Amino acid sequence: MPGKVILVTGGSGLIGKAIESLILSDSPQSEEWVFLSSNDCNLCDLEATRRTFNTYKPTHVIHLAAMVGGLFHNLAHNLDFLRKNLHINDNVLQICYELGVEKVVSCLSTCIFPDKTSYPIDETMVHSGPPHSSNFGYSYAKRFIDIANHAYHEQHGCNFTSIIPCNVFGPNDNFNLESSHVIPGLIRKLYDVIESDGREFTVMGSGKPLRQFIYSHDLARLIIWVVRHYEEIEPIMLTVDEKAELTIQEVSEHIAKAFNFKGEIVFDTTKADGQYKKTASNAKLRGYLPDFEFTPFDVAIQQTVDWFKANHKTARL
Ligand code: NAP
Ligand code: GDP
Repeated sequence: MPGKVILVTGGSGLIGKAIESLILSDSPQSEEWVFLSSNDCNLCDLEATRRTFNTYKPTHVIHLAAMVGGLFHNLAHNLDFLRKNLHINDNVLQICYELGVEKVVSCLSTCIFPDKTSYPIDETMVHSGPPHSSNFGYSYAKRFIDIANHAYHEQHGCNFTSIIPCNVFGPNDNFNLESSHVIPGLIRKLYDVIESDGREFTVMGSGKPLRQFIYSHDLARLIIWVVRHYEEIEPIMLTVDEKAELTIQEVSEHIAKAFNFKGEIVFDTTKADGQYKKTASNAKLRGYLPDFEFTPFDVAIQQTVDWFKANHKTARL
């Protein structure tokens, strides 16, 4: 008889699928897991959200569902990112409160931090200034979660918390050229170049911006730890170490190597670079889990490229 019912919103996405694959191989009998997609319920709709949550009666919720996209998708759709994510987040947290859910873990991101800031950024700095103009809609809708978590805790004693991952990649990502993040976008692009016998791999922007990347399977292990053991309302960064930060050029070179591509990498400097960097500290996480081992970047990239090659017909394109 399961004691906990753990419901994952966004269960069909990059991170949701990574959690599901871990849970399928190793989950205690005391836990029942439910993975939702937008086909099960449109979380922008309060009544549909109430009905669906009532069906499963979760004791714990991992709230991942969101309108998600890379730099270029954000630049063109700030209003949609703001409104959809505000609706989803407000509906999920309110229904969790109404149903007496014991714990909710929602997902923020390192790209919602102030644009003008000192580095490394940490959990205390989420609201310390305006976000980068490229993704202000997404950022304010995500910051709302942290404000709501504190308000639900103060007024009703709810145990609602949040995690802050850096850039994530892995199998089951969104490989659509218009809306994807940089790693799936570049994997898709280079796959197409190689398929058409091309010799030029074009990367958008200067290649100079810096990013920290976490493999979705590592993040899944950390999220499962958070839902079972992390007891603060304050957010926690789930990010690789600062020394693992890479330039977009280095990322392109790793992807080229994983494909064994010997052609030329070209940088299209007419395209936006976005935020130059958002270096995040994982000191708080390391305080809890000093020995956590992240998958080496080249191994994780190779696994993602191999997954895409094997699944490109069914992948999200
Ligand atoms: P993803 O692959 O794009 O998946 C998004 C998920 O949200 C899908 O399961 C999607 O369902 C669901 N969804 C979207 N709109 C919905 C709606 N109106 N109602 C119900 N479900 C809806 O995203 P991801 O990369 O896994 O991201 C998960 C979370 O991590 C998000 O909160 C995101 O902001 C955060 N995050 C992501 C990154 C990153 O680099 N990817 C970095 C930091 C934080 P369908 O499959 O049915 O469309
Ligand atoms: P961000 O980390 O939130 O800015 O999001 P992205 O994952 O979209 O990363 C953006 C960085 O990668 C920027 O510096 C872009 O100029 C660069 N980049 C290079 N090629 C691509 C691409 O094909 N897609 C995306 N999304 N970004 C790219």
